[in-house]
Amino acid sequence: MDIIKEDKENILNTYKRFNVVLTNGHGSTLFDQDGKEYIDFSSGIGTNIYGICDKEWIDAVCEQAHKLQHTSNLYYSEPQVRLAKLLCEKTGMKKVFFSNSGAESNECAIKAARKYSFDKYGEGRYEIITLVNSFHGRTIATLSATGQDVFHQFFFPFVEGFKHAPANDIKALDELISNKTCAIMIECVQGEGGVNALDPEFIKHIEKVCKEKDLVFIVDEVQTGNGRCGYLYSYMEYGVKPDIVTTAKGIAGGLPFGAILFSEKTEHVLGYGQHATTFGGNPICANAAYSVISRIDDNLLSHVRNMRKLIENKLIGKPGIKSISGKGLMVGIEIDEKYKAADVVAKGIENGVIMLTAKNKIRLLPPLNISEKDLTKGLDLLLKSLSEV
Ligand SMILES: *Cc1c(COP(=O)(O)O)cnc(C)c1O
Repeated sequence: MDIIKEDKENILNTYKRFNVVLTNGHGSTLFDQDGKEYIDFSSGIGTNIYGICDKEWIDAVCEQAHKLQHTSNLYYSEPQVRLAKLLCEKTGMKKVFFSNSGAESNECAIKAARKYSFDKYGEGRYEIITLVNSFHGRTIATLSATGQDVFHQFFFPFVEGFKHAPANDIKALDELISNKTCAIMIECVQGEGGVNALDPEFIKHIEKVCKEKDLVFIVDEVQTGNGRCGYLYSYMEYGVKPDIVTTAKGIAGGLPFGAILFSEKTEHVLGYGQHATTFGGNPICANAAYSVISRIDDNLLSHVRNMRKLIENKLIGKPGIKSISGKGLMVGIEIDEKYKAADVVAKGIENGVIMLTAKNKIRLLPPLNISEKDLTKGLDLLLKSLSEV
């Protein structure tokens, strides 16, 4: 079968796919249908955080698949409970709700923030401030939350009640807060918006103002979380304590899964019948997530930070490279204006390295356990690709 031709004919053309059919892999190596080898600097957009065919992950998935693939949330089941307990222990948060994706995690957080405010203050206090260049998902509400005009087209009317403050501008943020505000939602490192880490003072200010004005402080850890930035969750590096944390992408090592963590301030907000999902908390995904989260320890996190140093040492000062942004293995590479990031990524595919873009940066989200050898090999291919566009 001509996969590319049949894809174009049968699947909605919403993606500008690169010209490659990926079929299998191991570790940080991927293969296409012709057997060509690639170093994987994308991990399925930050999902396959232990790479391909990780033994413990496969065992976790298969073990549960042999027992019971789904229960629905009408019954108790062990994989969810084990995972929730582990997440609460590791974060100090009080309760968890499981979803299937990042957008759904943020939908849940948005609902919880509005209800928190409704319960305490009644109607009219519903506005959520997010940041310019944020990305929170593709549902109507999370698109509305997303602070990028390119996403606010075609699908009118969007959900009202979202305001967008420029990142790192404390004064502008404060000016948007009014007696209608119920929450502030941020990514500590903006992902799709260009791999921009926020200033620590800005994040600390948000925590403070949320406390003072009884707003819900939401941190979107969909991309930054689960070890990606060198900490279990990226907020931990800043020493702040969110009221709600949302996550997805890497949490189940490549299966569709998400989690929303609630602090003591928000743990009782959503009650019986006020939120639900058919697949959220699916036992196979939950078992996979347990195998992922239980292994994010100091060893892995220091490996992530060390591999970042290697990337910086290797790339900073090289021709065509202006700066490196992000944290841990969430890496943004600012290149000379004369280059287009998408062209470099396309050239990378020719040369055997799979990369991503974010705005006009090259973005790397390699598996967190990538070896020094594979990382070095991929970076050499990246530099080669940059020199050839
Ligand atoms: C990817 C992403 C989302 C959306 O996640 P989906 O699983 O695609 O719905 C939300 N927020 C951030 C920060 C993301 O990077």
